[in-house]
Amino acid sequence: MKLLQKIRSVLDKESKYPEENTGLLSLLRYVLVIWMAYYAVVAIYILALGYWKYALILGVTGFLFAYYTRLSYAIRLKWVLLFTIITTVAVSGYLTSIFGWRSSFQYSIYVAFLVLWYDPMTSVRIKFIFSTLMAFAVGAVSFLTPFGHTVMDTTTPGYVVLIYSNMAIFFVCISLVAFFFCTKYVETESKLMEYNRKLKLMSETDPLTKLMNRRFAEEEIARIEEECRAQGYIFCIAIGDIDFFKKVNDTYGHETGDVVLKRMAAMFKEHIKGHGFVARWGGEEFLFVLTRMNGDEALIYLDELRRKVKKTEFKHEEVDFKVTMTFGVEEYSPRHGTEKVIESADKKLYIGKQSGRDRVVF
Ligand code: GH3
Ligand code: MG
Ligand code: MG
Repeated sequence: MKLLQKIRSVLDKESKYPEENTGLLSLLRYVLVIWMAYYAVVAIYILALGYWKYALILGVTGFLFAYYTRLSYAIRLKWVLLFTIITTVAVSGYLTSIFGWRSSFQYSIYVAFLVLWYDPMTSVRIKFIFSTLMAFAVGAVSFLTPFGHTVMDTTTPGYVVLIYSNMAIFFVCISLVAFFFCTKYVETESKLMEYNRKLKLMSETDPLTKLMNRRFAEEEIARIEEECRAQGYIFCIAIGDIDFFKKVNDTYGHETGDVVLKRMAAMFKEHIKGHGFVARWGGEEFLFVLTRMNGDEALIYLDELRRKVKKTEFKHEEVDFKVTMTFGVEEYSPRHGTEKVIESADKKLYIGKQSGRDRVVF
């Protein structure tokens, strides 16, 4: 098991060129190593049957495949792919013409064909050109191999073994290619889903406070409005603004200001759980949507939050400080629509600021 893992890690080793496709590199190496081992075995087998000339060709091919595997760690992938395709077409074409169409040596060309199509770096035009050339090569091999021709005696077990082992290795390689195609597809799909999820989250969230951003909050308000109309419940919208926040920044620094915003956001989120949602509406302004509450209930609810804010202690270099907050709240009315409700909440917030801050105005 350890040996298998070691072999895998060697074959999966990434290219020294970072832009190259790791999948294709691994696939090509796996195929090359399988062919190398297979051609070496067949070379010995053919030699034992007395065909030393063809055994030599098979042996040299096996050696070439081993050499290409080695090259794949040093040179550009496209060259290794090109050498592999040329060698495969030439050697399996030649061996087919010698051992006959039924010997199934030509199947290797189909494997090389699919490996080429797996390559995401090569353009479709080049792939088509190579595919056409390979199709012609297969046609030429078929043309040059007389029907039923083979140098071997087709009635001997030696011939049967060659046919079926060639077929078996073809199925091993084709399964490998299929596996790579399948995992690539699944990998791409799940990567895409992950990116989409991240993008969606990024487009909906305020990076500092991790609350909904204004754009997404507007969508949510529209959704709540529809839901409220359909189900006939009431809701309120409130805008809360931290009092004298500029002073916090000026006295303790912008970074401490950010910490205050983050902690406040976390507190709001916790407080509003099950009662609606909160969003970052502007710099130090937060919008609250309070579902299934009328204005009077929202007033009590927000006043509780206001007192919580007032009690919260922040620290800057051993200095403790507190902040207060002013809220304006408005009850939703289908007659006016949400835009007017927000406008009215904003006006009430302004009134709250004018009349001394640290209060909820309804
Ligand atoms: P008021 O009580 O009238 O609301 O006074 P204020 O100082 O809070 O009012 P103003 O709206 O003039 O100032 C808001 C300040 O909030 C100004 C800006 O520097 C600060 N601010 C806005 N966004 C951020 C932020 O992301 N981080 C930090 N640290 N400060 C921010
Ligand atoms: Mg403020
Ligand atoms: Mg403000």
